[in-house]
Amino acid sequence: MDARKQNPGAISGNNKPPRFTIAVFEGDGIGPEIMKPTVALLREISVATGAFSLDFETVPAGATHYAKHGVSLPEESMKTAKEADAILLSAMGMPDIRYPDGTEISPQIELRMELGLFAGVRPVIIQPGQGSPLKVAEERGIDFVIIRESTEGLFASHGKGRINDNISAEETLVITREVSEKLFEFAFNLARRRKETGRGPGRVHCVDKANVFQAFAFFRSIFDEVAARHRDIKADAAYVDAAALWMVQRPQIFDVLVTENMFGDILSDLGAGLMGSLGLAPSADIGSDHAVFQPCHGSAPDIAGRNIANPLAMILSAAMMLEWLGQKSGTAEMQTVSDSLSGAVADVMAAGSAKTPDLGGTASTDDVAEAVLEAFRNRTGTTA
Ligand code: ATP
Repeated sequence: MDARKQNPGAISGNNKPPRFTIAVFEGDGIGPEIMKPTVALLREISVATGAFSLDFETVPAGATHYAKHGVSLPEESMKTAKEADAILLSAMGMPDIRYPDGTEISPQIELRMELGLFAGVRPVIIQPGQGSPLKVAEERGIDFVIIRESTEGLFASHGKGRINDNISAEETLVITREVSEKLFEFAFNLARRRKETGRGPGRVHCVDKANVFQAFAFFRSIFDEVAARHRDIKADAAYVDAAALWMVQRPQIFDVLVTENMFGDILSDLGAGLMGSLGLAPSADIGSDHAVFQPCHGSAPDIAGRNIANPLAMILSAAMMLEWLGQKSGTAEMQTVSDSLSGAVADVMAAGSAKTPDLGGTASTDDVAEAVLEAFRNRTGTTA
C-alpha cells in the first residue's frame, strides 16, 4: 500500500493540493446522463478553487453490463473501487433485467456489503420557499438526516430468501451488536457536528419497532447503551409507523434519525418525496474505510436517453463526497467547497430558472448542471 492510500489526499509536495482517485460507476438508465455533467462540474471546481485534485476512473457494472456480459459487478471494477479514495455511483438496475431468481441487479448492495458501508446517510433538506408537497416545509424549511443501516437488517437476507414449495416464503432480518454500535456512534457524532455548526439541536431518534420484534428491542437496547456515552446529545426513540407520520406532520422535530436497513429504505423515499422529487435526494454510504456517494433514486428508465433527468441529487451526492474526503484527509478547504456546491444547488432551486420536468420546468439535464456551475462561480468569485 503506498503512503497516499494510508493517508488519502496527503499533500505530496510543497503547496500541492491533495489528490484523490475516484472510482466512477455510470450505471444504467439515466445514470450516465447525470454522471457526465457531475464529473465535468467537479473537474471545473477542482481547477478553479485549487483546493484538491481528482483523478476519475470509470468502471463498468450494472444491469446493462450484466445483460451483455453475464456479470453485474466485474472483479476488476470491485478492485478499482476498493483502491479508490471514494466511489461515485450513479443509478443502477433495470426493471426488466433480472438475475435468474427474479431479483433486480443491484451491484450497489454488493458494494455496501463487501466494503462494510454500514451508514447510509440521507439528508432531507428543504429551503424555505423551495417548494414541497408539505406546506410547513415550504414555509419554514426543514433539515434533518436519515441514517439507514446499510449492510444488515432485512437486507442481510438479500439473495438468501426462500420460497418453500410455493406454500410459504422466508427472509431473515439480522441485527448485530458490532454494526449497531458503529452505526449509533456515527449517528451521535453526526448530531454533534450538526450542533456545532448550527444545523441542528443535537438530537438523535432511534427508529424501530421495538414494541413488536425481539431484534428491534435488541437494536434499541444497544442504542440506549451508546446514548449513555453521548450525554451532550438528546436521545429519543420513535416506532417506525409514528416516525413516518411525524415526518409528514411535524418534520421540524427531527435532527438525526437512525434506523434499520429496510425501514431506512422506505423512510428515505418519503424524505425524497417531501423534497418534491427523487431527483433532489442525495446519499452517502459510509463505512470505516470506504464510502460510496450516489443519488437516492433509481435508473428511471421511463425518462432515460432524453437529457431531462434531474442531475441535482447526483451533484449533491458529489458535494457530500467532497465533504467526506475533506474530513478524512484533514483538508478544511474542501468543506468550504462542498458547502459552496450545495449552496449553488440551493441558489439554482431558489432562482427557479433551471428546472427539469420532474420539478415542473423545461430545462435539460445539461442546462441544470450549467446553471449550478454558474451559481458556484457567483458564490465563490471563481472562474470555474
Ligand atoms: P429503485 O428501486 O432502483 O430505487 P425506483 O423504483 O425507486 O428505483 P426510480 O428509477 O427511482 O424508481 O424512478 C421512480 C420515478 O422517479 C420515475 O418516474 C422516474 O422517472 C423518477 N425519477 C427518478 N430519478 C429521477 C431524476 N433524477 N430526475 C427526474 N425524475 C426521476
